[in-house]
Amino acid sequence: MKVVVTAVPGCGKTTVLKYLEKIANNVEFVNFGDVMFEISKLGDRDEMRSLPVEKYRKIQLAAAKKIGKMKGNIIIDTHCTIKKPEGYYPGLPEDIVRALSPDVIVLIEKNPQDILKQRKKDKSRKRDSETLGEIELQQQMNRMFAAAYATISKATVKIISLRYKERKAFQHAIDASKKLAELFKGD
Ligand code: AMP
Ligand code: MG
Repeated sequence: MKVVVTAVPGCGKTTVLKYLEKIANNVEFVNFGDVMFEISKLGDRDEMRSLPVEKYRKIQLAAAKKIGKMKGNIIIDTHCTIKKPEGYYPGLPEDIVRALSPDVIVLIEKNPQDILKQRKKDKSRKRDSETLGEIELQQQMNRMFAAAYATISKATVKIISLRYKERKAFQHAIDASKKLAELFKGD
């Protein structure tokens, strides 16, 4: 089973996967951004978004080919869309989604207020500064892009909504990790 996990930056996706690692011992984890960053030879992973599209496409495809060779139960930490200066760029365009051949495409969603709070806290990353409306728009765009990827790859689209308010960020992350672990039950 191959599961692609996506969310807008600052949604806590990487934290969710850290919790999942603790409860799912039959799953391998790969971070698409790590593989691209290694290939790009840049000094900062957040600089990649500003690369010219032609160059970006090549690095993206090289990363997908590498990850596509992995067998077994795999979680791929990646993005449905990447907000580039030129606009929303597809994380899984046709050649990439074919190379990865996912079974499930997961969208983790949160209230834009919670995402903005997290972006402000995280000094280790150069997150884009966006309004609440812009963050929500990217979440909506991600749903549309995911539908297109699913049509090509016959993957299902699973939305994990963390939009309820009464939970702290780490509790949201634990809830989402449990939902992801259920996907691998019986595998
Ligand atoms: P992350 O650490 O998950 O935010 O990923 C770091 C960077 O990797 C992102 O800002 C993107 O530039 C790049 N990246 C990750 N996944 C993809 C993808 N599927 N397609 C293109 N770029 C990606
Ligand atoms: Mg991350």
